[in-house]
Amino acid sequence: MFPKARYKKFSDYLKERFNERVYKVSVDAGFSCPNKDGKFSDEGCIFCDNRTFNAYFGNQRIPIKEQISNGIKFGSSRYRAKKFLVYFQANTNTYASIDELKKIYDSINEFDDVAGLMIGTRPDCIDNEILDLIESYSTKYEVWLEYGLQSMHDQTLKLVNRNHTYKDFLKTYNLTKNRNIKVCPHVILGLPHETTAEMLETAKEMARLKPDAIKIHPLHIVKDTNLEKLYKEDKFKMYSLGEYYDLLINFLRYLHPETIIARLTADCPRKLLIEPQWLEEKARFIQLLDKEMDERGIFQGDLYKGM
Ligand code: SF4
Repeated sequence: MFPKARYKKFSDYLKERFNERVYKVSVDAGFSCPNKDGKFSDEGCIFCDNRTFNAYFGNQRIPIKEQISNGIKFGSSRYRAKKFLVYFQANTNTYASIDELKKIYDSINEFDDVAGLMIGTRPDCIDNEILDLIESYSTKYEVWLEYGLQSMHDQTLKLVNRNHTYKDFLKTYNLTKNRNIKVCPHVILGLPHETTAEMLETAKEMARLKPDAIKIHPLHIVKDTNLEKLYKEDKFKMYSLGEYYDLLINFLRYLHPETIIARLTADCPRKLLIEPQWLEEKARFIQLLDKEMDERGIFQGDLYKGM
């Protein structure tokens, strides 16, 4: 008998849901971001750097259909995948007119083996009209919306130049729920000057909302970003691997047991990574996390108290 997973893994969810090997094709449709193009700010979030956007095919200079086709070929041959999720990942993928958005998302219709549409965006770049469009794909595809949140604390959001508040996120979350759209917020653990208690408050709040999935990224400093500048001036705390495991495991314990954990690491090319160096060993990071949770005998959600 297999041991029970310590947290709800996205890979297990996909196996159960599609009963086939599934590969996620990340694409770059050439969207911009209002937090970088001057609409809200021209600086972007202090940690943002699209050079770390990790897709073999996601290159906005390549037409979108070609990116999808290349991704499908790669996933079929390397991973023997039979179904594909197309993930609009880079920048803010709802930041265009309805007609443009429809044209871009419609690219997936040409590929019979695409089973899902995933869209990453900011919580303040959504309205009911865009949600209606996105939900319309759910008659044929599994549809996911990923909202960059990072923290529920407005002082942190301000410090990292998000230019939206937690209230903005909640408003959008409420507009999205009860639709045929799965929701996955992104959070970052270890943001400058956030205390453990504050981060665990975000976990408890996510447990209260019970999104379908959550992505939990460790804070990492990318070369030439405003975060690197801040780190040099301010030397805020960066977590050692052991400290980060304690934090992450506690975070997982407070989440709702049914929320899928869609991501626990982050990608950054070695030459761009300032800190933490342990980020480079992704596979080991996950193995050790599983081992650590096994040894401690704990599970995602075991401190969750229904609200
Ligand atoms: S909202 Fe996303 S794409 Fe825009 S600056 Fe922030 S992290 Fe970068």
